[in-house]
Amino acid sequence: ISSKLPDVGTSIFTVMSKLALDEGAVNLSQGFPDFPISEELAEEVMKAMKAGLNQYAPMPGYPPLLKAISEKVQHTFGWTPDPATEVMVTAGATESIVCAILTLVKEGDEVIVFEPAYDSYQPCIALAGGTMVPIPLNFPDYSIPWDQVEDSITSRTRMIVVNTPHNPSGAILAESDLEQLERLAHKHGIYILGDEAYEHIIFEGKKHHSLLSRPSLKPWAIAVFSFGKTFHVTGWKIGYMVTHPELMVEMKKVHQFLTFSVSTPMQAGIAAYLSSGDHYSGIGPMFQKKRDLFLDCIKGTDWKPLASHGTYFQVVSYDEITKENDYDLAIRLTKEMKVASIPVSVFYHNRTDHKVLRFCFAKQDETIIQGAEKLCRILK
Ligand code: GLN
Repeated sequence: ISSKLPDVGTSIFTVMSKLALDEGAVNLSQGFPDFPISEELAEEVMKAMKAGLNQYAPMPGYPPLLKAISEKVQHTFGWTPDPATEVMVTAGATESIVCAILTLVKEGDEVIVFEPAYDSYQPCIALAGGTMVPIPLNFPDYSIPWDQVEDSITSRTRMIVVNTPHNPSGAILAESDLEQLERLAHKHGIYILGDEAYEHIIFEGKKHHSLLSRPSLKPWAIAVFSFGKTFHVTGWKIGYMVTHPELMVEMKKVHQFLTFSVSTPMQAGIAAYLSSGDHYSGIGPMFQKKRDLFLDCIKGTDWKPLASHGTYFQVVSYDEITKENDYDLAIRLTKEMKVASIPVSVFYHNRTDHKVLRFCFAKQDETIIQGAEKLCRILK
């Protein structure tokens, strides 16, 4: 058949996780935690199921969860979105991204995406009939080359996608980046889609600069979040978006026919859990410890870490170890040294030759130590 996504194959996350399993390798590739979740959260979900909350939730989200999200935004970004008109629960942040792109991007529109880019953006843009305009982030700090952004804007530019904290690099946007986005949004009438799935996974006490923290971005911003990342439940697929009421009306039309609504007991469980105290402040420090453990394990070797300020990923340069490309190396490491990673070049439209691999440290300490030891064994 004539494919709508001719260039799309199996995602690298699936490929590497499967290879890790087949090879019996320590899996530091796909980003998901391997440690237990909060018992309290699990119990709240069970309670919801037992209380009979097992049928369709209202299309935009289970009302107590919409309210809890609105309070969470108040707590983190200092203003209160209207739960009825500015918040929507989706099947993971992934659905929010699809929904925002399908809603706003029309045939022939251009969408600026920074690379390395998460793998779902481009296919969503293509399905909407748009074209991705990829801009490589500066290497090795993965900052945004703003002059190039300005030069890439045309009359067809409809949207800019940003991701902070950034997967795979762990870079974070600064206040000055938000100022640039705000300037461009107003000057050219461009929507800004903010993939903020890792908002709470941020290190050294740094601040997460959300699109939601800039009031004047409100008419242009769609901010997307993930409970999967925040509460270590990536398999629950519960995320949400916050956007301006006028945009939300259109987003809801699309969401209504994408999924209609998402799991009721999960939403109810999360809502109850959110109202039972502060579950956020420990997340950054907890993951920072894991990052530091991984860094300690590879210290003094020729694996050279780049800076990671957030997410659960660490990008490491192997330039001093071998000249082979990152894809081949990732496969070889999995097969021969029994540790799986993600080659960063697959996050680029035009493959780069940066010699870097991404390792996920959202793992039990023993897993991190085991994986890092395998890395160091041969390549010390
Ligand atoms: N977000 C996860 C990662 O970057 C992968 C999600 C997926 O497998 N689609 O590793």
